[in-house]
Amino acid sequence: MKTHTPKLIFFLALSLVTACKDNTSITPIDKSSKSVSPIQISHTFSTGAQPKNVIFVIGDGTGINQISALEFYKEHHVYYDDFPIVGLSKVSSTSLITDSAAAGTAMACGEKTFNKAIGVDAQGNDLPNLIELNEQLGGANGLIATSSITHATPACFYAHHNDRNDHEIIASFLPKSSVDFFAGPGLKYFNNREDQVNLIDTLKANGFTIETTNLKAYPEAQKVGYLLADKDMPKMLDGRGSFLIDATQMAIEHLSKNDNGFFLMIEGSQVDWGGHDNDFDYMISELIDLDDTLGAILAYAKQNQNTLVVVTGDHATGGLSLSADNGDYNKIKPSFSSPGHNADWIPVFAYGPGAEQFSGVYENNMLFHKIKALLSPDN
Ligand code: MG
Ligand code: ZN
Repeated sequence: MKTHTPKLIFFLALSLVTACKDNTSITPIDKSSKSVSPIQISHTFSTGAQPKNVIFVIGDGTGINQISALEFYKEHHVYYDDFPIVGLSKVSSTSLITDSAAAGTAMACGEKTFNKAIGVDAQGNDLPNLIELNEQLGGANGLIATSSITHATPACFYAHHNDRNDHEIIASFLPKSSVDFFAGPGLKYFNNREDQVNLIDTLKANGFTIETTNLKAYPEAQKVGYLLADKDMPKMLDGRGSFLIDATQMAIEHLSKNDNGFFLMIEGSQVDWGGHDNDFDYMISELIDLDDTLGAILAYAKQNQNTLVVVTGDHATGGLSLSADNGDYNKIKPSFSSPGHNADWIPVFAYGPGAEQFSGVYENNMLFHKIKALLSPDN
């Protein structure tokens, strides 16, 4: 039986957050002298383990404490519980603490790089990403985010640039990218730009049907893009509704028409923002939305056994802990210890053909190499 405080009773926690202690005599090891080049992984897979489709889910700012909180603050089923395979990834970039750009690049492109890097290596050279590689295999590709589609995490799957903050430059990569379906906010970086270029026209010239008001289906369109807000989608707390789950189901419907399979990246972007704000209510409501989306994804993967689902985070945020409230072991007091990111190992959950490749402990850039090897075992 669960014993914890009723949901959303945590107002005191925020006022009681204490500053991070920084008086330890133990100094972190110098990772700058450690090699971060990827190790080789085995290319031997059990019979029939090659997936046709890969759905890759990133909860931005989602560490083990965030996910654990679902157990106590989500009223209905927790879908993270349903994954048979779990691994752990180490997420440092070339800094000890990663940002979402370097972590996104590691996962999308396979190399550790500097914070702020979008699809480029530590020297600034372009790196091929999973979506570009999958297009060469004849696969269709999709991206969904609740932050701007030009934000660091999704950007690493189609753009190559040395600064995540240059949203208008990042947007200019999307029309000619290997993406066939995208859904998220960020409209202003396409139609209200300093250079006066209308990238909506450029997207259309490159075969996209673009929708800016709602998730209306375009079953005949080859390529579809939804840009549903100027900058960010509303918070769940402010009534975003079922955007993430609806966009996911539309993407699967659209991409699964491709005979050669698909790669779909879905980001629950704003879990991280709740962490930065040290706002537990914001964080957990975003994570519940992502978990419900996992339910829809797993339902598809269970019906379509050729689909691999991999779920992870890019890093944890906020130094969240779920501690006893003032020594009362029947009450949890969620508390944050930092406005920034953490260095914690991050869990990886997998289901479907090839899922066993994701057990164990490894660097986050190995996620790219594992998925690449599963999509293309001969290369
Ligand atoms: Mg992100
Ligand atoms: Zn963050």
